[in-house]
Amino acid sequence: LRLHFQPRYRISDGEMVGAEALVRWQHPERGLIPPDTFIPIAEESGLILSLSDWVIDTACRCAARWPEHLFVSVNLSPSEFKRGNLVERVQKALHHSGIAPARVELEITENVMLEDAPGALELMRTLKRLGVRIAMDDFGTGYSSLSYLRSFPFDGLKIDRSFLNNLVGSDDESIIQAIVGLGRALSLTVTAEGIETAEHLTLLKAVSCDEGQGFFLSRPLDTDAFNLLVKARKNIDIKSRV
Ligand code: C2E
Ligand code: MG
Ligand code: MG
Repeated sequence: LRLHFQPRYRISDGEMVGAEALVRWQHPERGLIPPDTFIPIAEESGLILSLSDWVIDTACRCAARWPEHLFVSVNLSPSEFKRGNLVERVQKALHHSGIAPARVELEITENVMLEDAPGALELMRTLKRLGVRIAMDDFGTGYSSLSYLRSFPFDGLKIDRSFLNNLVGSDDESIIQAIVGLGRALSLTVTAEGIETAEHLTLLKAVSCDEGQGFFLSRPLDTDAFNLLVKARKNIDIKSRV
């Protein structure tokens, strides 16, 4: 397994604020296999727990060596939420790496809440007590329930990349603006995913979206490339790109 890191930038000034850890499988014959191919199989077979342990541990250990202003964001599977020891697993990774918990964000999807909302709420509250942040990933693809956003202890909201990718008219822009407004009203940090063009960035700037990720800003990078980028401390020049 390999971890790649995709930088997340603050849209107002182009400063990198953190990065999302994205797992890949380096297969001896088939090359680098994307997570969409093997995560579902890992979930079905139960291997997801040991895979995810490795991801959380490696992400925290890498990020502990980054400058302190950068956070790391890790994806969790809904199936992990049902297992009893998620809190202990996260706690262990924090402890082993020595990273400040506030620099770690866990990304979960709505599916986590669908099956057992009270159980998920309890678990999220316990995770929050460890000091980590929690973001809702892929917002807009499922039920996009307002009540989940309101009543669960989320710190951030990630707008699914399908919104930017399928941008055709002013309706879509209004929807993005509405989601950003919703996030603001609920005091959530709103991140747009899938920024692929200067037009996307212009739009997000115009609606004051907080943070963004996407191929136009940076692709997911292997550890060496990511470390080089961090060392260079080069901000994305939002003005010249827009
Ligand atoms: P995600 O959490 O929504 O991650 C963002 C995905 O969008 C990543 O795909 C990233 O490479 C891709 N992406 C980023 N910018 C752009 C862009 O501008 N355009 C387009 N078209 N795509 C962009 P990736 O790495 O293939 O990951 C896919 C999904 O696999 C992730 O979606 C996440 O749900 C899951 N995943 C990745 N790593 C892990 C992991 O360690 N654990 C678990 N449970 N799931 C993971
Ligand atoms: Mg994610
Ligand atoms: Mg996403």
